[in-house]
This record gives sequence, C-alpha cells and structure tokens, in this order.
Amino acid sequence: MATESSNPSPPQNAKVINHVILISVDGLRPELLQAPLIEKHPSMARLLRGPHTFEARTDPDSTVTLPNHVGMVTGRLFAGPLGHNWLGNSDPPKPGAGGTINEMHGEYVASIFDVASDRGVATAVIATKTKFILLDQSYDETNGAMDIVGTDDGRDKIDAFITCKESDQVATETLKFITHSAVKGERSLSFLHFAETDGAGHAQAWDLADETEYRKACVRVDTAIGKLLSGIDSDATLCGHVAIVLTSDHGGGVPPRSHTDPKAPINFTIPFLVWLGVDQAPSDLYAANATMRTLPNAAENPRAEEAKPIRNADAGNLVLMMLGLPAIPNSTVNAAQDLIFVPSTGTTVR
Ligand SMILES: [Zn+2]
Repeated sequence: MATESSNPSPPQNAKVINHVILISVDGLRPELLQAPLIEKHPSMARLLRGPHTFEARTDPDSTVTLPNHVGMVTGRLFAGPLGHNWLGNSDPPKPGAGGTINEMHGEYVASIFDVASDRGVATAVIATKTKFILLDQSYDETNGAMDIVGTDDGRDKIDAFITCKESDQVATETLKFITHSAVKGERSLSFLHFAETDGAGHAQAWDLADETEYRKACVRVDTAIGKLLSGIDSDATLCGHVAIVLTSDHGGGVPPRSHTDPKAPINFTIPFLVWLGVDQAPSDLYAANATMRTLPNAAENPRAEEAKPIRNADAGNLVLMMLGLPAIPNSTVNAAQDLIFVPSTGTTVR
C-alpha cells in the first residue's frame, strides 16, 4: 500500500543505486561529525551531503558492539519475543554450542544478507573485530536458511566474509568486492565495520581534545573512507551508483573508558547518515521523517513502545529498500521500510 511515507521520487540528480554500503564506525560520537571537529574528517564530511541526523539512537537496552550490530543486520531490537536476543559481546561459541543468532533466539532470525542473497545480490561483511564471526556462523552454508525465492542462491547468505586488522584494509577489500561484483554484472550489499575508534576510546577514554588517541583513530577511519570514495569516484561503473549509510553501534565515555551504561546520552546518541551516491545539500533526516519518527529528548533513548526515534537498527531495512529489496521477514524496526531517505529541502540538521 502506497502511503505518504514511501520514497516515491529519487533525488533529481541521483542515478540507479546498484551497490549499497552500510558502514558502522565503532564508538563514533556525533561530535566528530560536527563543527569544529568535522574539519579533520573531509570524507565523512562528504557523506553529510545528504539527509542525516546527529540524534539517532542505539538499542534502548544495550550500548555495546555485538547486540547493536545484530540489530542493524536483522532489523530487530535486542529485547522481547520479537527481539534478536543476542546479548554477548565477545567472540561467540561455535555453532551448535550457542554460537548462532538463531540458537540464541530459538528460531531462525533472518537478516539483510538473507533478503539480498536470495535475490541474487552479492553480499559481504568486512569487519575489524573477530567477534563478527557470529554473522558468518549464523548465515553460512550450514546455518543459513534455504533459499525459496526464485533461483536457489544457496544457504550461505554472506558471499565474502573478511576480517581485517586495519581500517585501510577495509577500504581495499571493499573496493575489490564491489568492483568484482560490478564486473560480473551483479549488484551488491556490503556491511563494513571500523573498530579503531572504539579501541582508542577504551585505551585512552573518549577524549575529544586534539591529538588524543580517539581523535587520531577517527582521522585514520576517515582516511580509509576517503580511499573508498576515491575508488568509487574513479570507476565509471561505480561512480554515482554506490550509496552509503553510515552509523555507529554506540558512542562512548560512560564509564570513561567504556560505553556500557545504556542510560548515558553520550553512549546512546549516535550519527546516522544517508549518502545517495552524489553530493547533495545536507538535510535533516528527522525533518524528512516528521510523521514517521520522533526526535527524542536529548536525555532519552525511548523504548520501542514509548516512541520511535531514528535508530541504528533502522539501517537494515533502509539499505534493502535502497536496493529495491523488500524488508527482512519478521523484523520490527523499519519493517514497513518507511524511513524516508529522499532529502527534504530547506531543513536544518539537528
Ligand atoms: Zn567498545
């Protein structure tokens, strides 16, 4: 059913989106993307040239890494019978010993990788923490669901699962993957994770002063994103056809060298950026979604039954929609794919 919430007309200068990259910068506080600190991050500044907000929210019950990333790729929050229920935040046990999302939840939890892979879209996870093996284990040739949509693309839902040590390598591997997909005439969905920012925060606190480890790590991540954007710009088959959604699993700073308190605003407040493959005027993602999402009070991360802020878990069904794909079965966040990503004009970013 078409409603006012749908995304009926693409931006005027947009081309067909063939590749979508979902980027999570681990522990990225929104201040890094705002003046004056954004001056040090020219590549992330470019991704601000589209609809975005600095007032997105994490899961209401968790501000740690794995539960929030599982939320992004499954379109579910942590808690409740419809939640993904994955609370662990270290390397998971082996499959069969509790090491898949499906085992934890009690039944199959579909993901963005299911929807994309089953429809012939190439999929990748390129991450910088070993615990992301959870995704590979949950959606591999043994534990992934049967493909009952069209051509059988198999049970393995993640075509390329790559663990990197450094941010630069994430950019290199991503370019390789997308280029390879484009050469084969395939569309693609990539999920990228940059851990350096989080590592620096744990080492020396989420200190926003000049030249801290956290600030230096942000610059390294920005440089890697710059390499990715340059690679896309210089390839005629990719330029204008690759969209990027960038968000984070959590902020950080409560306690000072961590981010475990889900009630702390500096932990649960995160950025959420939508870049549609071309640089556009910056616009407010909440203004575009005035009837569908509620800008929360700065001190609050409302529970699902209380209000609907823009969350990192909105990203899963958003990236599928950007590829023209349906929502993740049984997902609960952005399940109607009603998060509007077409910029509204004349709005001020909040
Ligand atoms: Zn951390």
